Amino acid sequence: MITIQKDIPLGPLTTFEIGGNARLYCEVRSEADIEEAIRYAQTEEVPFFILAGGSNMLIDDDGFDGLVIRMLSDSYSFEGNMLTASSGCNLSVLIDAAAKHILGSWEKLAGIPGTLGGAVRGNAGAFGTEIKDVVVEVSAMHIHTFEKKIFTTEECEFSYRNSFFKLHPEWVIISATMRLAEKDQKEILAEIEHTIHEREIRHLQNVRAAGSYFMNPVAPEHVVKYFETEKATTAREGRVPAGWLIDKVGLKGEREGGAIASVQHPNYLVNETGSATAYDVTQLAERIKHAVYKEYGITLQEEVTLL
Ligand SMILES: Cc1cc2nc3c(=O)[nH]c(=O)nc-3n(C[C@H](O)[C@H](O)[C@H](O)COP(=O)(O)OP(=O)(O)OC[C@H]3O[C@@H](n4cnc5c(N)ncnc54)[C@H](O)[C@@H]3O)c2cc1C
Repeated sequence: MITIQKDIPLGPLTTFEIGGNARLYCEVRSEADIEEAIRYAQTEEVPFFILAGGSNMLIDDDGFDGLVIRMLSDSYSFEGNMLTASSGCNLSVLIDAAAKHILGSWEKLAGIPGTLGGAVRGNAGAFGTEIKDVVVEVSAMHIHTFEKKIFTTEECEFSYRNSFFKLHPEWVIISATMRLAEKDQKEILAEIEHTIHEREIRHLQNVRAAGSYFMNPVAPEHVVKYFETEKATTAREGRVPAGWLIDKVGLKGEREGGAIASVQHPNYLVNETGSATAYDVTQLAERIKHAVYKEYGITLQEEVTLL
């Protein structure tokens, strides 16, 4: 049973801490709740939006003139080395829970904020591991027909920060099943700790941002070579880091209002002052896009969802 609330500030529900109010807002904790919320929006003829951990979102200063459906389901269960969890589960909580069951292989995803659903939709990844490496099936609901369908990994069409669900927002992710590997528990816990430590060193944690603002673009060969030579590394899938490009066009540390392109990690656009607006962030983003296009002919694409 859902409760519809009015005029709820959305900024505090995002890691950016930016954004106006939702005209209508409800929290959902089960599949039945999700269906009820969507049916409500459709009956009232208002648009709706699925908000989960809010860690990959930039919400407009004017908020959202519709119903925000906040995913708070948190049930999960283990069967052998399989973990099935509802989409609202916090990813790091699941990784820790798996460790208690002596199950691992996704430790490098530890510390990525947000929910399992958000991670599946964007094929979240870090340090060479992606959620696609462990997901074996995803259960989703169609927002018009309310059909429930189980998607195999192939049907999820995972690729770099992308999936079928990102391309088809008419499907809401309800739950996912992961196949994990039995490992030495000490090894799992050490790997989790090491990963979080690495993230802290690289300033990837606890900042008012939405993670990487832009996706790492596929770049022309000469740019890839330039990057590989300078960094003495190999570019994955012909992509170069957006943060490196931002640095190269001289916009590392650039500010717009209360927003800054982080000095430590330029692809993190940060609400530095705590009072940055969505306008500040998008203006800064536009300047970056313009500069990168002018210098390298590369069009940066947002990884962050703009609402
Ligand atoms: C400090 C910081 C570090 C980060 N580091 C990383 C990183 O290393 N790697 C990485 O990949 N990402 C990273 N991110 C980005 C973010 O954590 C991931 O994208 C995360 O998976 C988003 O999940 P969420 O629950 O917060 O989704 P939200 O931000 O709430 O939503 C993002 C999008 O997913 C949609 N969505 C959410 N749940 C569902 C669902 N159940 N069904 C359908 N659509 C849904 C929303 O509608 C929205 O369009 C980082 C973010 C921050 C703030």
